[in-house]
Amino acid sequence: MQNQTECPVCGMSVDQQTAPSTTYDAQTYFFCSEGCRDAFAADPGRYVGNTGS
Ligand SMILES: [Zn+2]
Repeated sequence: MQNQTECPVCGMSVDQQTAPSTTYDAQTYFFCSEGCRDAFAADPGRYVGNTGS
C-alpha cells in the first residue's frame, strides 16, 4: 500500500520495509542504498530542501 517512497538523494522508488533509513529533523527518510544514505547524512539540507515554515 503505502510502503513505497522515494529516495531523496536519487529519486528512485524504495520500499520502506527493507530500505536503509535515517532520521533528520524529526522525519524519517528511506534510501535505495547505503551509499545514498551516506550521501544524505553528509549533507542533509541539500536533499530535503529548505522550504522554510
Ligand atoms: Zn538513492
